[in-house]
Amino acid sequence: MSGGLILVVEDNALNMKLLRDVFRSQGYRVVESVTVEDGLDVARAEHPDLILMDIHLPGMDGVSALKKLKADPKTSDIPVIAVTASAMPMERKEIIAAGFDGYQTKPLSVKELNGEIRSVLESRAQGSSDR
Ligand code: MN
Repeated sequence: MSGGLILVVEDNALNMKLLRDVFRSQGYRVVESVTVEDGLDVARAEHPDLILMDIHLPGMDGVSALKKLKADPKTSDIPVIAVTASAMPMERKEIIAAGFDGYQTKPLSVKELNGEIRSVLESRAQGSSDR
């Protein structure tokens, strides 16, 4: 999906910069939100190919955001990868159970991130060719 659009919802400026640099260097376009509220608006308006969602955000958190995305027919088919600083087993379990398509922990590993993005996008491409 060269040239595809990735929405990053992240309130930490350094992580945002890392994600932006990684995606842009691979030819993706990046749109950025620092709050869920703004991110939901962008997701509905631009229908990105993938969303990277920080879990700990000011205002609404990333898990609540995922529920809203999945409940809206305009955004329910967009794959969402969770990003969180916490690697606590309980929280990881909750995040997977919430229905995220993938999961990355901070500090982010560019290699792991790339692998996960590729696997999510490839499984999407195999699953549906009609969008
Ligand atoms: Mn955060």
